[in-house]
Amino acid sequence: MRRLLAALVVVGATAAALSGCALPDTASGRTTIALLLPDKKTARYETFDRPVFEERIAESGDAQVLYTNADQDAARQQQQAESALAAGAAVLVLDPVDGRAAASILAAATAEGVPVVSYDRMIVGGGKPAYYVSFDNERVGELQADALVAGLEGEGRTDGGILMVHGSPTDSNAAQFREGARRVIADAGLRILAEYDTPDWSPDKAQAWVAGQIAQYGDEIVAVYAANDGTASGAIAALRAADVSPVPLVTGQDAELTALQRIVSGDQYMTVYKALRTQATIAADVALQLASGERPAGDTTVDGIPATLLTPVAVTLDDIAETVVADGFWTVQDICTPA
Ligand code: BGC
Repeated sequence: MRRLLAALVVVGATAAALSGCALPDTASGRTTIALLLPDKKTARYETFDRPVFEERIAESGDAQVLYTNADQDAARQQQQAESALAAGAAVLVLDPVDGRAAASILAAATAEGVPVVSYDRMIVGGGKPAYYVSFDNERVGELQADALVAGLEGEGRTDGGILMVHGSPTDSNAAQFREGARRVIADAGLRILAEYDTPDWSPDKAQAWVAGQIAQYGDEIVAVYAANDGTASGAIAALRAADVSPVPLVTGQDAELTALQRIVSGDQYMTVYKALRTQATIAADVALQLASGERPAGDTTVDGIPATLLTPVAVTLDDIAETVVADGFWTVQDICTPA
């Protein structure tokens, strides 16, 4: 009854917060698991994370998903979380727009006895999430920088400089990618020309910043470390518009279809494949366990939080077939058919 009443209040009072989300069927009496994802501009969330998670929960037959996407807006995510709690969600699976701001979501959920799974990004403060499912994120940065170093050495271009386009300053993963990448670049003795923390991981802002750096450094730029495929797309658009030649090596992350197509066409040097299906499946299984009162122990712990940390894989032109294709993430036909 509490849930039904709460759901009715939610429908009336917070229609704006719920816009774009799938409302659960409260009449069925099934357990509700809330999945709160951070953005729509990055392809992975609506292409892999959401559908795989929803499918896994549906397969269980015992629960339903209340899905929301905050579209880069931390305040909206806060409202979405509050609405999910008011609607009686038994577990929150939260990929925070802003790790620090999400501390208040974690605290509110904990106060109601609702466990929170920190999904992909860490929630910073507000207590301890019940579980953390992510990748070895420093390793992601190392793989990106290792590929750049090897590529530049192979082309005999280590005398030039590197632009570093990092992720959002509110995303704790971005700091880890940066840490791993910087370490490798420093060890290799390569020169960093300038660095940028891209607000909201926005490809447009990455593009505008890289365009400004091209105006300043011109063909001194031999590589652009871009933290993900979205920022890589912005960087590449700026490099193309300015006709920088020879084309600097550009990194990425997420193995987005368009990024793989750019790797095939020679516009992007590498990306990082993360097994998103595995990640979303594990998160769904953990959420189901938590909903039934179990406390999964995890394969490891991070800051005392039970966790699963998956292994990222570097992808260049030479190993597309052995990585993303072999793993069934994309088919050769997907990659070779222009969007
Ligand atoms: C994720 C990346 C993603 C980025 C932008 C990071 O937290 O780990 O996979 O590209 O956010 O959404």
